Amino acid sequence: MRLARYSYRGSVRWGRLQEQTVADLRGTPFEGVDLTGEEHDLSEVQLLPPCLSGKIVAVGLNYRDHAEELGMPLPDEPVIFLKPPTALLPDGGVIRYPNGCRQLDYEAELALVVRESCRDVSPEEAPLHVLGWCCANDVTARDLQRKDVQWTRSKSFDTFCPLGPWLETDLDPADLRITLRLNGQTRQSSSTSMMVFDPFELLSFVSGVMTLEPGDVIMTGTPPGVGEMHRGDTVEVEIEGIGVLRNVVA
Ligand code: MG
Repeated sequence: MRLARYSYRGSVRWGRLQEQTVADLRGTPFEGVDLTGEEHDLSEVQLLPPCLSGKIVAVGLNYRDHAEELGMPLPDEPVIFLKPPTALLPDGGVIRYPNGCRQLDYEAELALVVRESCRDVSPEEAPLHVLGWCCANDVTARDLQRKDVQWTRSKSFDTFCPLGPWLETDLDPADLRITLRLNGQTRQSSSTSMMVFDPFELLSFVSGVMTLEPGDVIMTGTPPGVGEMHRGDTVEVEIEGIGVLRNVVA
């Protein structure tokens, strides 16, 4: 099932995606999928990031082929950091190139959205706590990341977290093709099977640090081929079984 969060005539709603329509849900999918019977044509709605305004937890260096590319040893524990919810950007939104940034990078990532409040979850139990999966772009001001050492500024500008286009609820994340295209040219291409810590191990690890809440996001790291974006570029993250998240840089 595909779940979308969207705005329709100024109100924010959740719905189940069908071919060309979205079927409205009562409340949010975190309480269960209960249809109101109302449907909207996709052309009448604007998609929003399919999460709530909670935590966005991301992970550094989590693909074996990316570590190899960088000549870095594999981490023995996930290195996690936070992006603020004010950085969220929907499919089709404009990534703003910050003043004072000289190197703006893309990072294609698989993201999951947490279903319910949980902590100290084991990797075996973790699938029960995932509502669905989507594409993400961990936009990074690389020069500022190097300069600051701490990652907060470089990962947190408004629009630095494109997320979408919707949630796929029925997906096995073990071996999915993940691709990033810049102006139609493939720049990143790998499989989620190259992850050092799989998404369920990550959810388990994060839940041992902080309580996860409905609508929180966990981003699972990026494959090799990270590179720069410039003003006017179109950047697309495609993940097998989910779809394409498309944004432009301005
Ligand atoms: Mg990243």
